[in-house]
Amino acid sequence: MCLVAAPHIPSRLIAEKSVYWQLMHKTKLLKVYSCVHCAEVEVGTTTPKIRGCKKSSFHHWVCLGERGLDKYVCQSCGIKVNIYGTPSTEGCSVGKTHTWNKV
Ligand SMILES: [Zn+2]
Ligand SMILES: [Zn+2]
Repeated sequence: MCLVAAPHIPSRLIAEKSVYWQLMHKTKLLKVYSCVHCAEVEVGTTTPKIRGCKKSSFHHWVCLGERGLDKYVCQSCGIKVNIYGTPSTEGCSVGKTHTWNKV
């Protein structure tokens, strides 16, 4: 007899996974961008418009990651972002890199 057992996944994990998928489905195309010059934060599906920077001729956007439920604040420039996972340290307007603290 060939017995193929279904993979044993605890129901708790299945529930967590479906919540995760719902969240990712809603937010999958939304990314968080921050300007290297003025530290403005924008959320969108594509890189925001470069006009309107207060500190330079144009915004210089850096993608920090996908929008999610984890909140981080940068110790150097003070911006707050909602990110899935860990935000990129690239493009801090004050320090060379963002120093993220999870809130
Ligand atoms: Zn800017
Ligand atoms: Zn920063």
